[in-house]
Amino acid sequence: MGQPAVDATKSFAHTGWHAYSAEDTCRLLDVPFAVGLEPDEAARRLALHGSNAIVSARARGPLRMLLAQFTDFMVLLLLAAAILAAFLGEPQDIVAIIAIVVLNGVLGFVQEYRAERAMAALQALAAPIARVRRGGDTRTIPAADLVPGDVVWLEAGSLVPADLRLVEAARLKIEEAALTGESHAVEKSTTPLTAPDLPLSERRNMAYKGTMVTYGRGAGVVATTGMQTELGRIASLLRDEVEVRTPLQRRLTRLGQRLSVAVIVLCAVIFGIGLLRGEEPGLMFLTALSLAVAGIPEALPAVVTISLALGARKMLKQNALIRRLPAVETLGSVTYICSDKTGTLTQNRMQVEAFHVGDKLVREPPAADQEKPWSLLLAGLALNNDAVREVNGDAEGDPTEVALLLAAAHAGREKAELEARFPRLGEIPFSSERARMTTLHRLATGIVAFTKGAPERVLEGCFNRLTESGPASLDRLAILAATDEMARNGQRVLAIAYRSLPELPADLSPDEIEVDQTFLGLIGLLDPPRPEARESVALCKSAGIHVVMITGDHPATAGVIARTLGIARATDRIMTGQELARLSPEEFEHRITDIRVYARVEPEQKIKIVKALQDRGECVAMTGDGVNDAPALRRADIGVAMGRGGTDVAREAAHMVLLDDNFATIVGAVREGRRIYDNLRKFVKYSLTTGVGEIWPLFLAPLLGLPIPLLPIHILWINLVTDGLPGLTLAAERSEAGVMQRPPRPPRESLFAHGLWQHVVWVGLLMGSVTLGAQAWAYSTGSAHWQSITFTVMALSQMAHVLAIRSERVSLLRQGLWSNRSLLGAVVLTFALQMATLYLPALNAVFKTQPLTVPELVLSLLLSTLVFVAVEIEKAVRRRADRRSLSTAATGMDLGKEQR
Ligand code: ATP
Repeated sequence: MGQPAVDATKSFAHTGWHAYSAEDTCRLLDVPFAVGLEPDEAARRLALHGSNAIVSARARGPLRMLLAQFTDFMVLLLLAAAILAAFLGEPQDIVAIIAIVVLNGVLGFVQEYRAERAMAALQALAAPIARVRRGGDTRTIPAADLVPGDVVWLEAGSLVPADLRLVEAARLKIEEAALTGESHAVEKSTTPLTAPDLPLSERRNMAYKGTMVTYGRGAGVVATTGMQTELGRIASLLRDEVEVRTPLQRRLTRLGQRLSVAVIVLCAVIFGIGLLRGEEPGLMFLTALSLAVAGIPEALPAVVTISLALGARKMLKQNALIRRLPAVETLGSVTYICSDKTGTLTQNRMQVEAFHVGDKLVREPPAADQEKPWSLLLAGLALNNDAVREVNGDAEGDPTEVALLLAAAHAGREKAELEARFPRLGEIPFSSERARMTTLHRLATGIVAFTKGAPERVLEGCFNRLTESGPASLDRLAILAATDEMARNGQRVLAIAYRSLPELPADLSPDEIEVDQTFLGLIGLLDPPRPEARESVALCKSAGIHVVMITGDHPATAGVIARTLGIARATDRIMTGQELARLSPEEFEHRITDIRVYARVEPEQKIKIVKALQDRGECVAMTGDGVNDAPALRRADIGVAMGRGGTDVAREAAHMVLLDDNFATIVGAVREGRRIYDNLRKFVKYSLTTGVGEIWPLFLAPLLGLPIPLLPIHILWINLVTDGLPGLTLAAERSEAGVMQRPPRPPRESLFAHGLWQHVVWVGLLMGSVTLGAQAWAYSTGSAHWQSITFTVMALSQMAHVLAIRSERVSLLRQGLWSNRSLLGAVVLTFALQMATLYLPALNAVFKTQPLTVPELVLSLLLSTLVFVAVEIEKAVRRRADRRSLSTAATGMDLGKEQR
């Protein structure tokens, strides 16, 4: 294939692909439509045209990220002051201060870089894919690898992966709001259009990157890719995306601002008092500034991003792919999980279990299946089917269709053979709303149309039925009763019917074709529940989360599965889509809490359910896989799409994608979300308490007639090193015992709820008092080491504190030191570093410390464990309170709370 033809893509880009016939397009792009590009030609074109990606300008390089660590105003001020101090005669200070600031910056950078990489990896995984024909084979490739000339397939739910000139379009409808602003789907065709300068919305034979196929099927040849596409052109105009902040980040930023003001005021006061007491102004200024750098929690929002991103990476290992970071935070608040049935709660491994033909229910087609209803029914199952038989004998496609295809094959009806004899001439595709599909095939004598789908829908179009003894009258009620009975055995029931036509109608509208049909029979498929789903449903109950099943299937089938899984009791009512449609939003909201199963629901109705639940203040996770699920997924607090079975459009709208389509994965993600939130709280608790603990002694010492307890370098060291290292490892803490035995966190609950504020204040005060006490005692005994003792007590108190707050309730003695090894490692390392500041002569000079004697060291150690003991007592008190409230609940006084 020659170079010139490919270069044609450049000159034709944006001008007039729609004005060429499909054949000319393929010729110009040098691709045989039936075969597609050869793989090596595709590779060559990829090198020539580049990746089919929209380039974002926001990606920050590592260098910019590193520099950003040092551009905080207070840090810059501190560095400036240190330089000034150096000129005024304290040159060694500046080296130490810079070293600590750099160390802290590098630590922050490493964390942020890891988080950014984790997010980039998640985004790469969430990237769209495309079905292409290359070298005669159909395969799925990352959409980014598409090149001009690729032959691409589209189906309902696909996101168009590049700009395509359509070559096939079977009732193909595309919603182009992303480009044209028009939210109604446009019906596409393949006919050439003459006017070269049509607006985009009228180029009916083109499909544009980023738009959504809402209905039908189609195929086209890629005309342009990446930034050359229409979407790429817009994207290059609006490159700057806005950064999304999670609600928690926003709250923490606001809190940070308020705390900063408070800290600055306090530091100013400390500076003033120092001056009044006759301290040296330069030193006092540096002290106040160090304290401000230490006390201002400017890093909190960044810490949130980092822990959420790293949490998202961990969730990926458990098959939950997070597409939007705030979802990690919201997961902990979920109170309702509304789940599809097929594939999420069931295994999606369908098998045909029974046939109902004539008036007989049989497990297998009879040997003499050449007779009329059977031969037509089996042919219909093979022909009215989009699954494809594979070489190894299996089949690929929608599991319902796969099961039907294999059942037909088992009875000797191979789709490929039948299709060769009776080619498909047209179709009315399946959609959940229609709950049926029709295909039209050529016969020697005319045309046959097969329709299969939900029995009540198929029956609407039937006027008689075919039995072994010929056509007979149709008893709809009897067939519906047979359907009910099969459904009560847990079967998913489909009906099939046919109709002969003299010729192919010009208009393939359902009203014209799915009428005057002859009913052939019912097919019952079994799709066993997932074994792990039952356990997950039980776990949800104990975690105060309601599980609701929403399905397009028959109420009886849905009921059986829901009861097997423990979602509903035998007495619970099942609401159908029809009933739901009749209720006003107010009436529905009133009844919603009683409904655990919705059946024969159309995807559009899911949004009504989400809204009603949200109006009641619930936090809703909702699953979905089709195009029409997208609005509900977007609206839900956590929209959950399927990674295997779902459509691109659903994935695009979702906050989270289940790579294994499994209900249990949602519950696992909720648990993980709760753990991550708990650990964030621990981090905030830890770093704020340290801040408070440092401010108190510096504030009080002068008032008590003592010298400044800590030098600037000590303050920075404690805050940026001894505080920083172990703090980060709190994120690795395992989930609290009983995370899934407590009610969900209210979404608006403050981060400081459950006594966090009080803890920060009183433990900070305690830490400060112990430090001050140590200083007062050492100073009064005339010890030359009083400042080294004060510094050590303060630093070691941090270690004691971090060990004690690993759990909100459980004692460290029960948790065991080893259960968070990275934290233990950080504590040991920090302890060693602290000892180094005391016992390495080189560091003595920098930190102005002296080696402590053994009794002094032991005393410092003992004093710092006071914090540990105090926090352990706090936890014990909390455990007692919990036990008490549990026993009151058990005696029935607090039943309401229990049930949540
Ligand atoms: P869930 O909503 O839990 O995934 P579902 O698969 O039954 O359940 P839909 O996919 O909306 O939901 O299908 C609705 C109904 O349409 C099904 O119950 C079935 O009767 C019918 N149906 C499903 N797949 C096909 C198909 N490939 N061809 C014809 N009819 C189908």
